[in-house]
Amino acid sequence: MSAAEQRAFAHADAHADDHLRRLCDQLRQPTVSATGDGLRAAAGRLREWLQRLGFDARLLGEGSHPLVAGARRTVPGAPTVLLYGHYDVQPPGERALWSGAPFEPRIADGRVYARGAADNKGQHVAQLLALETVLACEGELPCNVVVVLDGEEEIGSPHLAATVGRHRELLAADVVVVADGPGHPDGRVRIIAGCRGCLSFELSVTTARRDLHSGNWGGVAPNAAWELVRALAALRGADGALTVPGLEPDPAHVGPLRSAARTLPVDLDAVRSDSGIARLDAPAARGFHERLIAWPALSVNVLAAGPCDPAAAGAAIPAHASARCDLRLVPGQEPEQALAALRRRLAEVAPEVTLRPTGGAMAPAASPVDSPLLARLEAAVARGQGAAPLVEPLVGGSLPLATWQRQLGCPAYIVTYADHDCATHAPDENITLDAFRRGIRSGIATLFAFGEAAA
Ligand SMILES: [Zn+2]
Repeated sequence: MSAAEQRAFAHADAHADDHLRRLCDQLRQPTVSATGDGLRAAAGRLREWLQRLGFDARLLGEGSHPLVAGARRTVPGAPTVLLYGHYDVQPPGERALWSGAPFEPRIADGRVYARGAADNKGQHVAQLLALETVLACEGELPCNVVVVLDGEEEIGSPHLAATVGRHRELLAADVVVVADGPGHPDGRVRIIAGCRGCLSFELSVTTARRDLHSGNWGGVAPNAAWELVRALAALRGADGALTVPGLEPDPAHVGPLRSAARTLPVDLDAVRSDSGIARLDAPAARGFHERLIAWPALSVNVLAAGPCDPAAAGAAIPAHASARCDLRLVPGQEPEQALAALRRRLAEVAPEVTLRPTGGAMAPAASPVDSPLLARLEAAVARGQGAAPLVEPLVGGSLPLATWQRQLGCPAYIVTYADHDCATHAPDENITLDAFRRGIRSGIATLFAFGEAAA
Protein backbone atom coordinates (compact mmCIF):
# COMPACT_ATOMS: atom_id res chain seq x y z
CA MET A 1 0.00 0.00 0.00
CA SER A 2 1.41 3.39 -0.98
CA ALA A 3 1.80 6.28 1.46
CA ALA A 4 -0.78 8.24 -0.54
CA GLU A 5 -3.29 5.43 -0.23
CA GLN A 6 -2.64 5.21 3.50
CA ARG A 7 -3.21 8.96 3.84
CA ALA A 8 -6.49 8.67 1.96
CA PHE A 9 -7.68 5.76 4.12
CA ALA A 10 -6.88 7.73 7.29
CA HIS A 11 -8.64 10.81 5.91
CA ALA A 12 -11.73 8.73 5.09
CA ASP A 13 -11.77 7.26 8.61
CA ALA A 14 -11.48 10.73 10.12
CA HIS A 15 -14.47 11.90 8.07
CA ALA A 16 -16.68 8.83 8.62
CA ASP A 17 -19.46 10.81 10.32
CA ASP A 18 -19.55 13.34 7.51
CA HIS A 19 -19.60 10.51 4.93
CA LEU A 20 -22.56 8.89 6.65
CA ARG A 21 -24.40 12.22 6.74
CA ARG A 22 -23.77 12.66 3.01
CA LEU A 23 -25.18 9.21 2.29
CA CYS A 24 -28.26 9.98 4.39
CA ASP A 25 -28.77 13.22 2.41
CA GLN A 26 -29.00 11.13 -0.78
CA LEU A 27 -31.27 8.54 0.82
CA ARG A 28 -33.73 11.23 1.92
CA GLN A 29 -34.38 12.13 -1.71
CA PRO A 30 -36.93 9.67 -3.15
CA THR A 31 -35.79 8.73 -6.66
CA VAL A 32 -38.23 6.06 -7.81
CA SER A 33 -37.68 5.60 -11.52
CA ALA A 34 -40.98 3.73 -11.91
CA THR A 35 -42.81 6.98 -11.13
CA GLY A 36 -40.12 9.50 -12.09
CA ASP A 37 -40.62 11.51 -8.89
CA GLY A 38 -37.60 13.41 -7.65
CA LEU A 39 -35.14 12.14 -10.22
CA ARG A 40 -34.44 15.39 -12.00
CA ALA A 41 -33.73 17.22 -8.72
CA ALA A 42 -31.45 14.42 -7.50
CA ALA A 43 -29.60 14.35 -10.83
CA GLY A 44 -28.99 18.10 -10.62
CA ARG A 45 -27.46 17.73 -7.17
CA LEU A 46 -25.22 14.87 -8.29
CA ARG A 47 -24.01 16.92 -11.26
CA GLU A 48 -23.14 19.77 -8.88
CA TRP A 49 -21.22 17.32 -6.68
CA LEU A 50 -19.20 16.14 -9.68
CA GLN A 51 -18.59 19.73 -10.76
CA ARG A 52 -17.23 20.52 -7.30
CA LEU A 53 -14.80 17.62 -7.82
CA GLY A 54 -13.56 19.22 -11.03
CA PHE A 55 -15.51 17.04 -13.44
CA ASP A 56 -16.92 18.24 -16.71
CA ALA A 57 -20.36 17.03 -15.62
CA ARG A 58 -23.61 17.07 -17.55
CA LEU A 59 -27.11 15.67 -17.54
CA LEU A 60 -27.51 13.53 -20.64
CA GLY A 61 -30.86 12.60 -22.09
CA GLU A 62 -34.00 14.71 -22.02
CA GLY A 63 -36.88 14.23 -19.70
CA SER A 64 -37.36 13.06 -16.17
CA HIS A 65 -34.67 10.36 -15.88
CA PRO A 66 -31.39 11.98 -16.96
CA LEU A 67 -28.07 10.21 -16.98
CA VAL A 68 -25.55 12.11 -14.84
CA ALA A 69 -22.18 11.90 -16.56
CA GLY A 70 -18.86 13.60 -15.99
CA ALA A 71 -15.23 13.23 -16.96
CA ARG A 72 -12.04 14.36 -15.29
CA ARG A 73 -9.08 13.73 -17.57
CA THR A 74 -6.11 15.39 -15.95
CA VAL A 75 -3.46 12.64 -15.88
CA PRO A 76 -1.86 12.25 -19.32
CA GLY A 77 -0.81 8.67 -20.03
CA ALA A 78 -2.88 7.19 -17.22
CA PRO A 79 -5.77 4.86 -17.94
CA THR A 80 -9.33 6.07 -17.64
CA VAL A 81 -11.68 4.24 -15.30
CA LEU A 82 -15.40 4.71 -15.71
CA LEU A 83 -17.34 4.37 -12.45
CA TYR A 84 -20.96 3.42 -13.01
CA GLY A 85 -23.80 3.47 -10.51
CA HIS A 86 -27.48 4.31 -10.48
CA TYR A 87 -29.27 6.94 -8.43
CA ASP A 88 -32.77 5.63 -9.08
CA VAL A 89 -34.36 3.15 -6.69
CA GLN A 90 -37.12 0.56 -6.62
CA PRO A 91 -40.49 1.66 -5.26
CA PRO A 92 -40.54 1.12 -1.49
CA GLY A 93 -43.50 -1.27 -1.70
CA GLU A 94 -45.81 -1.78 1.24
CA ARG A 95 -45.07 0.83 3.89
CA ALA A 96 -46.34 -1.43 6.72
CA LEU A 97 -43.54 -3.94 6.05
CA TRP A 98 -40.87 -1.33 6.83
CA SER A 99 -39.70 -0.65 10.38
CA GLY A 100 -39.51 3.07 9.57
CA ALA A 101 -40.18 5.46 6.71
CA PRO A 102 -38.41 4.18 3.54
CA PHE A 103 -36.98 7.61 2.70
CA GLU A 104 -36.05 8.63 6.24
CA PRO A 105 -32.73 6.83 6.86
CA ARG A 106 -32.65 5.04 10.20
CA ILE A 107 -29.40 3.97 11.83
CA ALA A 108 -29.59 0.89 14.04
CA ASP A 109 -27.46 -2.20 14.74
CA GLY A 110 -24.56 -0.74 12.75
CA ARG A 111 -26.68 -0.41 9.62
CA VAL A 112 -28.40 2.37 7.67
CA TYR A 113 -31.93 1.39 6.70
CA ALA A 114 -33.59 3.16 3.75
CA ARG A 115 -34.69 2.46 0.20
CA GLY A 116 -31.53 2.76 -1.91
CA ALA A 117 -29.13 2.20 1.03
CA ALA A 118 -27.57 -0.77 -0.77
CA ASP A 119 -29.05 -0.51 -4.26
CA ASN A 120 -27.37 1.67 -5.18
CA LYS A 121 -26.79 4.87 -3.23
CA GLY A 122 -24.59 3.31 -0.53
CA GLN A 123 -22.35 2.03 -3.31
CA HIS A 124 -22.04 4.94 -5.77
CA VAL A 125 -21.90 7.47 -2.96
CA ALA A 126 -18.92 5.45 -1.67
CA GLN A 127 -17.30 5.84 -5.10
CA LEU A 128 -17.93 9.61 -5.11
CA LEU A 129 -16.57 9.94 -1.57
CA ALA A 130 -13.48 7.99 -2.64
CA LEU A 131 -12.86 10.57 -5.39
CA GLU A 132 -13.47 13.41 -2.94
CA THR A 133 -11.12 11.90 -0.36
CA VAL A 134 -8.23 11.39 -2.79
CA LEU A 135 -8.67 14.92 -4.14
CA ALA A 136 -8.73 16.33 -0.60
CA CYS A 137 -5.48 14.52 0.27
CA GLU A 138 -3.51 14.78 -2.96
CA GLY A 139 -5.14 17.65 -4.88
CA GLU A 140 -5.22 15.38 -7.93
CA LEU A 141 -6.53 11.97 -8.93
CA PRO A 142 -4.03 9.20 -9.79
CA CYS A 143 -5.87 8.30 -13.03
CA ASN A 144 -8.47 9.69 -15.37
CA VAL A 145 -12.03 9.13 -14.24
CA VAL A 146 -15.44 9.14 -15.85
CA VAL A 147 -18.53 8.88 -13.67
CA VAL A 148 -21.89 7.74 -15.02
CA LEU A 149 -24.94 7.66 -12.74
CA ASP A 150 -28.02 6.12 -14.31
CA GLY A 151 -31.56 7.24 -13.50
CA GLU A 152 -33.23 4.29 -15.19
CA GLU A 153 -31.44 1.18 -13.95
CA GLU A 154 -34.39 -0.13 -11.98
CA ILE A 155 -36.59 0.10 -15.06
CA GLY A 156 -34.06 -1.67 -17.28
CA SER A 157 -31.91 1.29 -18.48
CA PRO A 158 -33.89 1.61 -21.71
CA HIS A 159 -31.89 4.61 -22.97
CA LEU A 160 -28.42 3.85 -21.60
CA ALA A 161 -26.95 2.20 -24.70
CA ALA A 162 -28.16 4.92 -27.06
CA THR A 163 -27.04 7.74 -24.74
CA VAL A 164 -23.60 6.21 -24.20
CA GLY A 165 -23.33 5.69 -27.96
CA ARG A 166 -24.07 9.37 -28.59
CA HIS A 167 -21.45 10.53 -26.06
CA ARG A 168 -18.57 8.13 -26.71
CA GLU A 169 -16.01 10.93 -26.66
CA LEU A 170 -17.06 12.22 -23.23
CA LEU A 171 -17.31 8.71 -21.79
CA ALA A 172 -14.37 6.91 -23.43
CA ALA A 173 -12.63 4.63 -20.92
CA ASP A 174 -10.22 1.71 -20.59
CA VAL A 175 -12.24 -0.14 -17.99
CA VAL A 176 -15.65 0.18 -16.39
CA VAL A 177 -16.15 -0.53 -12.69
CA VAL A 178 -19.73 -0.98 -11.53
CA ALA A 179 -20.24 -0.90 -7.77
CA ASP A 180 -23.49 -2.80 -7.31
CA GLY A 181 -25.04 -5.90 -5.85
CA PRO A 182 -24.68 -7.87 -2.63
CA GLY A 183 -21.48 -9.62 -1.53
CA HIS A 184 -21.03 -13.34 -0.99
CA PRO A 185 -22.74 -14.84 2.09
CA ASP A 186 -19.29 -15.83 3.40
CA GLY A 187 -18.54 -12.11 3.78
CA ARG A 188 -16.30 -11.69 0.76
CA VAL A 189 -16.77 -8.91 -1.74
CA ARG A 190 -17.39 -10.30 -5.21
CA ILE A 191 -15.83 -9.07 -8.44
CA ILE A 192 -18.02 -10.18 -11.31
CA ALA A 193 -16.84 -10.19 -14.92
CA GLY A 194 -20.16 -10.69 -16.66
CA CYS A 195 -23.88 -11.21 -16.32
CA ARG A 196 -26.80 -12.96 -17.87
CA GLY A 197 -29.03 -10.98 -20.19
CA CYS A 198 -32.75 -10.58 -19.70
CA LEU A 199 -35.80 -10.49 -21.88
CA SER A 200 -39.09 -9.61 -20.16
CA PHE A 201 -42.40 -10.33 -21.84
CA GLU A 202 -46.07 -10.93 -21.28
CA LEU A 203 -48.09 -13.75 -22.74
CA SER A 204 -51.82 -13.14 -22.95
CA VAL A 205 -54.85 -14.82 -24.40
CA THR A 206 -58.48 -13.79 -24.67
CA THR A 207 -61.02 -16.49 -25.43
CA ALA A 208 -64.40 -14.76 -25.02
CA ARG A 209 -66.06 -11.38 -24.70
CA ARG A 210 -66.60 -11.91 -20.96
CA ASP A 211 -66.12 -14.52 -18.23
CA LEU A 212 -68.71 -17.28 -18.72
CA HIS A 213 -70.72 -19.46 -16.28
CA SER A 214 -68.76 -22.68 -15.94
CA GLY A 215 -71.97 -24.73 -15.66
CA ASN A 216 -73.65 -23.25 -18.71
CA TRP A 217 -70.44 -22.98 -20.74
CA GLY A 218 -68.05 -25.58 -19.27
CA GLY A 219 -66.98 -27.87 -22.10
CA VAL A 220 -68.34 -25.43 -24.68
CA ALA A 221 -66.25 -22.29 -24.26
CA PRO A 222 -62.45 -22.48 -24.35
CA ASN A 223 -60.86 -21.44 -21.07
CA ALA A 224 -58.19 -18.71 -21.27
CA ALA A 225 -56.39 -20.15 -18.24
CA TRP A 226 -56.05 -23.58 -19.83
CA GLU A 227 -54.90 -22.08 -23.13
CA LEU A 228 -52.22 -20.06 -21.38
CA VAL A 229 -51.00 -22.96 -19.25
CA ARG A 230 -50.75 -25.11 -22.36
CA ALA A 231 -48.66 -22.41 -24.08
CA LEU A 232 -46.33 -22.14 -21.07
CA ALA A 233 -45.94 -25.91 -20.91
CA ALA A 234 -44.79 -25.86 -24.52
CA LEU A 235 -41.85 -23.61 -23.59
CA ARG A 236 -40.36 -25.76 -20.82
CA GLY A 237 -40.67 -29.50 -20.38
CA ALA A 238 -41.50 -31.38 -17.19
CA ASP A 239 -37.80 -32.26 -16.94
CA GLY A 240 -36.98 -28.55 -16.60
CA ALA A 241 -35.27 -28.15 -19.98
CA LEU A 242 -36.40 -25.37 -22.29
CA THR A 243 -38.18 -26.77 -25.35
CA VAL A 244 -37.85 -23.73 -27.60
CA PRO A 245 -35.69 -24.40 -30.65
CA GLY A 246 -33.13 -21.60 -30.93
CA LEU A 247 -32.67 -21.14 -27.17
CA GLU A 248 -30.01 -23.83 -26.75
CA PRO A 249 -26.85 -22.25 -25.28
CA ASP A 250 -23.78 -22.27 -27.51
CA PRO A 251 -21.18 -24.63 -25.95
CA ALA A 252 -18.34 -22.47 -27.31
CA HIS A 253 -19.56 -19.56 -25.20
CA VAL A 254 -20.74 -21.35 -22.07
CA GLY A 255 -18.24 -24.24 -21.96
CA PRO A 256 -15.63 -22.24 -20.01
CA LEU A 257 -18.38 -20.91 -17.75
CA ARG A 258 -19.49 -24.44 -16.91
CA SER A 259 -15.93 -25.31 -15.87
CA ALA A 260 -15.61 -22.10 -13.84
CA ALA A 261 -18.98 -22.71 -12.18
CA ARG A 262 -17.64 -25.88 -10.57
CA THR A 263 -14.94 -23.91 -8.74
CA LEU A 264 -17.34 -21.38 -7.17
CA PRO A 265 -18.30 -21.97 -3.54
CA VAL A 266 -21.86 -22.67 -2.43
CA ASP A 267 -23.40 -23.76 0.84
CA LEU A 268 -26.52 -25.60 -0.30
CA ASP A 269 -27.84 -26.05 3.24
CA ALA A 270 -27.64 -22.30 3.76
CA VAL A 271 -29.36 -21.72 0.41
CA ARG A 272 -32.19 -24.06 1.42
CA SER A 273 -32.68 -22.66 4.89
CA ASP A 274 -32.51 -19.05 3.67
CA SER A 275 -34.98 -19.47 0.82
CA GLY A 276 -37.15 -22.28 2.06
CA ILE A 277 -36.73 -24.20 -1.20
CA ALA A 278 -36.79 -27.95 -0.63
CA ARG A 279 -34.76 -28.84 -3.72
CA LEU A 280 -33.09 -27.23 -6.70
CA ASP A 281 -35.21 -26.83 -9.80
CA ALA A 282 -35.14 -29.46 -12.54
CA PRO A 283 -33.02 -30.62 -14.34
CA ALA A 284 -31.41 -32.18 -11.28
CA ALA A 285 -28.03 -32.91 -12.88
CA ARG A 286 -26.86 -29.29 -13.11
CA GLY A 287 -24.60 -27.74 -10.50
CA PHE A 288 -25.77 -24.72 -8.50
CA HIS A 289 -23.60 -22.09 -10.20
CA GLU A 290 -23.82 -23.80 -13.58
CA ARG A 291 -27.57 -23.15 -13.48
CA LEU A 292 -27.03 -19.46 -12.81
CA ILE A 293 -24.31 -18.67 -15.30
CA ALA A 294 -24.26 -21.28 -18.06
CA TRP A 295 -27.94 -21.94 -18.79
CA PRO A 296 -30.80 -19.68 -19.83
CA ALA A 297 -33.72 -19.67 -17.36
CA LEU A 298 -37.37 -18.98 -18.06
CA SER A 299 -39.33 -17.70 -15.07
CA VAL A 300 -43.04 -17.06 -14.77
CA ASN A 301 -43.24 -13.93 -12.63
CA VAL A 302 -47.01 -13.43 -12.51
CA LEU A 303 -49.81 -15.72 -13.60
CA ALA A 304 -53.27 -14.19 -13.77
CA ALA A 305 -56.70 -15.43 -14.78
CA GLY A 306 -60.10 -14.70 -13.31
CA PRO A 307 -60.76 -12.22 -10.50
CA CYS A 308 -57.74 -11.34 -8.35
CA ASP A 309 -59.82 -11.45 -5.16
CA PRO A 310 -60.77 -15.06 -4.38
CA ALA A 311 -63.86 -13.75 -2.56
CA ALA A 312 -65.11 -12.38 -5.88
CA ALA A 313 -64.39 -15.58 -7.77
CA GLY A 314 -67.46 -17.48 -8.82
CA ALA A 315 -67.75 -20.63 -10.89
CA ALA A 316 -66.72 -18.97 -14.13
CA ILE A 317 -64.52 -19.60 -17.12
CA PRO A 318 -62.06 -16.71 -17.37
CA ALA A 319 -62.14 -14.94 -20.71
CA HIS A 320 -58.64 -13.57 -20.27
CA ALA A 321 -55.38 -14.92 -18.90
CA SER A 322 -51.88 -13.51 -18.84
CA ALA A 323 -48.41 -14.38 -17.64
CA ARG A 324 -45.51 -12.01 -17.03
CA CYS A 325 -42.27 -13.85 -17.69
CA ASP A 326 -38.56 -13.24 -17.94
CA LEU A 327 -35.96 -15.18 -19.80
CA ARG A 328 -32.36 -14.93 -18.56
CA LEU A 329 -29.85 -15.27 -21.37
CA VAL A 330 -26.28 -16.53 -21.32
CA PRO A 331 -23.28 -15.28 -23.36
CA GLY A 332 -23.78 -16.08 -27.02
CA GLN A 333 -27.53 -15.43 -26.87
CA GLU A 334 -29.07 -12.17 -28.06
CA PRO A 335 -32.43 -10.83 -26.83
CA GLU A 336 -33.73 -10.22 -30.37
CA GLN A 337 -32.94 -13.77 -31.45
CA ALA A 338 -34.45 -15.20 -28.26
CA LEU A 339 -37.61 -13.17 -28.83
CA ALA A 340 -37.85 -14.47 -32.40
CA ALA A 341 -37.37 -18.04 -31.16
CA LEU A 342 -40.18 -17.64 -28.62
CA ARG A 343 -42.49 -16.16 -31.25
CA ARG A 344 -41.79 -19.05 -33.64
CA ARG A 345 -42.50 -21.60 -30.93
CA LEU A 346 -45.75 -19.92 -29.86
CA ALA A 347 -46.91 -19.52 -33.46
CA GLU A 348 -46.48 -23.25 -33.82
CA VAL A 349 -48.01 -24.51 -30.56
CA ALA A 350 -50.35 -21.73 -29.34
CA PRO A 351 -51.08 -19.25 -32.14
CA GLU A 352 -53.91 -17.63 -30.16
CA VAL A 353 -51.46 -16.52 -27.44
CA THR A 354 -49.99 -13.04 -27.89
CA LEU A 355 -46.42 -12.23 -26.85
CA ARG A 356 -45.60 -8.64 -25.93
CA PRO A 357 -42.11 -7.60 -24.81
CA THR A 358 -42.22 -5.55 -21.60
CA GLY A 359 -39.42 -3.24 -20.54
CA GLY A 360 -36.03 -3.02 -22.13
CA ALA A 361 -34.18 -6.22 -22.97
CA MET A 362 -30.57 -6.64 -21.83
CA ALA A 363 -27.89 -8.58 -23.65
CA PRO A 364 -25.62 -10.88 -21.64
CA ALA A 365 -21.98 -9.85 -21.21
CA ALA A 366 -18.69 -11.48 -20.32
CA SER A 367 -15.43 -9.53 -19.83
CA PRO A 368 -12.08 -11.34 -19.78
CA VAL A 369 -11.07 -12.88 -16.46
CA ASP A 370 -7.37 -12.88 -17.44
CA SER A 371 -7.09 -9.11 -18.00
CA PRO A 372 -4.29 -7.16 -16.20
CA LEU A 373 -6.92 -4.50 -15.45
CA LEU A 374 -8.92 -7.09 -13.53
CA ALA A 375 -5.78 -8.13 -11.65
CA ARG A 376 -5.28 -4.47 -10.57
CA LEU A 377 -8.88 -4.14 -9.53
CA GLU A 378 -8.69 -7.38 -7.56
CA ALA A 379 -5.58 -6.23 -5.68
CA ALA A 380 -7.14 -2.84 -4.98
CA VAL A 381 -10.36 -4.30 -3.62
CA ALA A 382 -8.34 -6.66 -1.42
CA ARG A 383 -6.55 -3.66 0.12
CA GLY A 384 -9.79 -1.68 0.52
CA GLN A 385 -11.70 -4.55 2.08
CA GLY A 386 -8.85 -6.01 4.08
CA ALA A 387 -9.65 -9.40 2.52
CA ALA A 388 -9.33 -11.00 -0.90
CA PRO A 389 -12.46 -10.73 -3.06
CA LEU A 390 -14.14 -13.66 -4.78
CA VAL A 391 -13.82 -13.34 -8.57
CA GLU A 392 -16.80 -14.73 -10.49
CA PRO A 393 -16.86 -14.95 -14.29
CA LEU A 394 -20.58 -14.24 -14.50
CA VAL A 395 -23.59 -13.52 -12.32
CA GLY A 396 -27.11 -14.80 -12.82
CA GLY A 397 -28.75 -11.36 -12.68
CA SER A 398 -28.78 -8.80 -15.46
CA LEU A 399 -27.04 -5.45 -15.63
CA PRO A 400 -26.27 -3.25 -18.60
CA LEU A 401 -22.66 -4.48 -18.82
CA ALA A 402 -22.92 -5.27 -22.54
CA THR A 403 -23.50 -1.57 -23.19
CA TRP A 404 -19.96 -0.73 -22.11
CA GLN A 405 -18.34 -3.50 -24.10
CA ARG A 406 -20.30 -2.63 -27.23
CA GLN A 407 -20.40 1.17 -27.04
CA LEU A 408 -16.99 1.88 -25.51
CA GLY A 409 -15.13 -1.29 -26.46
CA CYS A 410 -13.78 -1.87 -22.96
CA PRO A 411 -14.21 -4.54 -20.29
CA ALA A 412 -16.62 -3.97 -17.43
CA TYR A 413 -16.43 -5.46 -13.92
CA ILE A 414 -18.87 -5.36 -11.05
CA VAL A 415 -17.66 -4.93 -7.47
CA THR A 416 -20.21 -5.61 -4.71
CA TYR A 417 -19.89 -3.14 -1.87
CA ALA A 418 -23.21 -4.09 -0.21
CA ASP A 419 -23.67 -6.84 2.37
CA HIS A 420 -25.15 -10.16 1.30
CA ASP A 421 -28.17 -9.59 3.58
CA CYS A 422 -28.85 -6.02 2.44
CA ALA A 423 -32.50 -6.69 1.45
CA THR A 424 -32.35 -5.01 -1.95
CA HIS A 425 -35.77 -4.47 -3.55
CA ALA A 426 -37.34 -5.46 -0.21
CA PRO A 427 -38.55 -3.71 2.96
CA ASP A 428 -35.82 -2.56 5.38
CA GLU A 429 -33.15 -2.38 2.68
CA ASN A 430 -29.86 -1.55 4.39
CA ILE A 431 -26.09 -1.32 4.26
CA THR A 432 -23.77 -1.81 7.22
CA LEU A 433 -21.69 1.20 8.19
CA ASP A 434 -18.69 -1.10 7.88
CA ALA A 435 -19.50 -2.14 4.31
CA PHE A 436 -19.99 1.53 3.40
CA ARG A 437 -16.62 2.39 4.94
CA ARG A 438 -14.90 -0.51 3.15
CA GLY A 439 -16.59 0.58 -0.08
CA ILE A 440 -15.04 4.04 0.22
CA ARG A 441 -11.63 2.44 0.89
CA SER A 442 -12.02 0.11 -2.07
CA GLY A 443 -12.92 3.06 -4.27
CA ILE A 444 -9.79 4.89 -3.11
CA ALA A 445 -7.56 1.86 -3.72
CA THR A 446 -9.10 1.35 -7.16
CA LEU A 447 -8.10 4.87 -8.21
CA PHE A 448 -4.53 4.34 -7.04
CA ALA A 449 -4.35 0.89 -8.67
CA PHE A 450 -5.27 2.23 -12.11
CA GLY A 451 -2.97 5.20 -11.54
CA GLU A 452 -0.05 2.84 -10.98
CA ALA A 453 -0.77 1.28 -14.36
CA ALA A 454 0.52 4.50 -15.92
CA ALA A 455 3.84 4.42 -14.04
ZN1 LIG B 1 -31.92 -2.87 -8.06
